[in-house]
Amino acid sequence: MISVLEAQRILDENVPPADRRNVPIDDAFGSYLSEDIKAPEASPRYTNSAMDGYAVRWRDCAGATPDAPAVLKIIGESQAGVPFDGEVAEHSAVRISTGAMVPDGADTVVRVEDTREADGLVSILTVKREGQDVRSKGEEFAEGQLLFLKGTCVAARELALMAAVGIHTIPVYGKPVVYLLVTGTELVCHDEDSIKPHQIRDSNTIMLTGAIRECGAFLMATSHVQDSLAQTVAAIGEAVDSGAKIIVCSGGVSVGRHDHVREAAKQAGFAELFWQIRQKPGKPLYAGRKENTLIFGLPGNPVSAYMCFRNFVRPVLAKLQGTRYFDRTLTTVVAEQMSNRGNRTLFVRVKIENRPNQLALLKEVGRQGSHMLSSIAHADGYIVLQPGEILQPGSLKEVSLF
Ligand code: AMP
Ligand code: MG
Repeated sequence: MISVLEAQRILDENVPPADRRNVPIDDAFGSYLSEDIKAPEASPRYTNSAMDGYAVRWRDCAGATPDAPAVLKIIGESQAGVPFDGEVAEHSAVRISTGAMVPDGADTVVRVEDTREADGLVSILTVKREGQDVRSKGEEFAEGQLLFLKGTCVAARELALMAAVGIHTIPVYGKPVVYLLVTGTELVCHDEDSIKPHQIRDSNTIMLTGAIRECGAFLMATSHVQDSLAQTVAAIGEAVDSGAKIIVCSGGVSVGRHDHVREAAKQAGFAELFWQIRQKPGKPLYAGRKENTLIFGLPGNPVSAYMCFRNFVRPVLAKLQGTRYFDRTLTTVVAEQMSNRGNRTLFVRVKIENRPNQLALLKEVGRQGSHMLSSIAHADGYIVLQPGEILQPGSLKEVSLF
């Protein structure tokens, strides 16, 4: 058996090279940038108004007060999308709307609320400073400025900024292609109405489908095989032929007579990277490699499958997208004694109780069996306890949040 860290190191060294591609901006949501992105143009692109009001010359209205307003002649309008075709000359003003181009000659905008208009004239009642309410070309950023670093996840906010500066094609890492292979003669599909007493509903397929998608990967196919060596070899062969980079198997990887994943992977040409990790849950975890394809054998117990996916598959899927995954963590106060009296790294599922103006309180989820899905479904996260580690009430512990 190897340690958790050793297994993670072996995987990190065996991650296949990431694919890069240029995709249309409309298809880029959820991808990670494979290059830095620089601004192809300045923002704002042209000097425009921050207010609905009048574009004026500062020297015509500086010092205006409600009792002694500056009276200017209105010579036209600059509307958003319809600029004023001309120049603001001495003692004149142009009506302007928010976002509209500030016409030549004008250097200041006075908002409607600070004016009065009558008979083609506008009275400027007050003006604070030269250049007020003018958004100058390039004030946000100049052409060529760095907008995003390689490795950034492209979502709503990033897409908006790139769209705003006219980027149509985005260099990203390809979404890793994953094939999910679920083993188990006892399984029936989770949406099947009839179930025999000796059968169990397959919850790993839907769980791992979600987990794979949460990582931004592309699940190309899912298949289910009985506990048969021949069927498992054939299914792994199909997964390899499909071109998937990552094959995730569920179940059949322990020491039972009907556990065939390791042997099937071997017959399909995979070299073993490791099998069995000094951890609980998830001891039977297996990984193998064939050229640029990795295969994972996750234990079938749902909690083990989930924790192994989080801690071993997810970092690989992140690296394939040019990024690294870290759990968000929270410092909490231990409510009751917790300990690891075994000789394996323990992942204890926990609940946290938020309290006003104090650190959150940490409590163990009652039942921790690796077959008990409620221990992850009802948990807020987990803590790592090394062999011999004892946490006393009141001590601090970092929680990895689900
Ligand atoms: P295995 O690792 O195949 O020996 O399975 C260990 C335990 O997990 C058994 O009790 C299985 O019934 C259960 N199990 C295996 N696969 C699944 C699955 N897809 N969904 C839910 N439970 C499963
Ligand atoms: Mg099984």
